[in-house]
Amino acid sequence: MDHTTQQAEGGSATALVRLAGVNKHFGDLHVLQDIDLSVARGEVVVVIGPSGSGKSTLCRAINRLETIDDGVIELDGHRLPEEGKALAQLRADVGMVFQSFNLFAHKTILENVTLGPIKVRGMKSSEAKELAMGLLERVGVESQAHKMPAQLSGGQQQRVAIARALAMQPKVMLFDEPTSALDPEMINEVLDVMVGLAKDGMTMIVVTHEMGFARKAADRVVFMADGQIVEEAEPEVFFTNPRSERAQEFLSKIL
Ligand code: ADP
Ligand code: MG
Repeated sequence: MDHTTQQAEGGSATALVRLAGVNKHFGDLHVLQDIDLSVARGEVVVVIGPSGSGKSTLCRAINRLETIDDGVIELDGHRLPEEGKALAQLRADVGMVFQSFNLFAHKTILENVTLGPIKVRGMKSSEAKELAMGLLERVGVESQAHKMPAQLSGGQQQRVAIARALAMQPKVMLFDEPTSALDPEMINEVLDVMVGLAKDGMTMIVVTHEMGFARKAADRVVFMADGQIVEEAEPEVFFTNPRSERAQEFLSKIL
């Protein structure tokens, strides 16, 4: 998709996710400082930056797992609801995959994926199963459907976590360092699923230091440091020619 055209035509009104003037403190720590970020439908944004810069807090704010002190966060043109049914609906629209796979340990892989659609979306069990099996196939673990999470490798569990989030038919997917807890040989099987999602047009915000993924799938890289968005650019431009000293310093450490 040509995001440039889309953004030029619609401006921020077409943004699927929009943050404007977002601030958040933890006590004396100003963890999000005047964050402005708009993500267009179908856009893939990779967020990178040093540990402690506020990346996870940003993701959690978009899912309203954290409150914000001021500013606006909108999903598909609507401000995030405060509580109740509307909040549950929002969480269903924002799929989230964390560093730790946190599947339900006492449910099968299939049940892990069908639970949300049945409970939150009110889907019939048979329909949810069909949907879930299709998604498990898409992430390459359909043969594991009747096993328990602990019987799967970390890479397989993380792919199930992605299928579980997709089962809610979210408008946007947030990934917070989805491969950083994985053994190296399992990283690519998860990144490949994410690249596939990106190619299929899913709107994604991905916190990761996997430059290969960013180069392959990202439309834009956002660099955060000390609670601020310091720089944003297309991956090729950012990685080869970062403008800010902080980005240069950060890249020199990880590349
Ligand atoms: P990142 O994901 O970029 O590593 P985080 O968003 O996790 O950064 O954290 C940003 C800063 O906020 C860190 O200094 C962290 O210690 C602090 N922080 C995160 N969550 C909390 C919390 N619930 N209470 C207090 N401080 C927090
Ligand atoms: Mg984090």
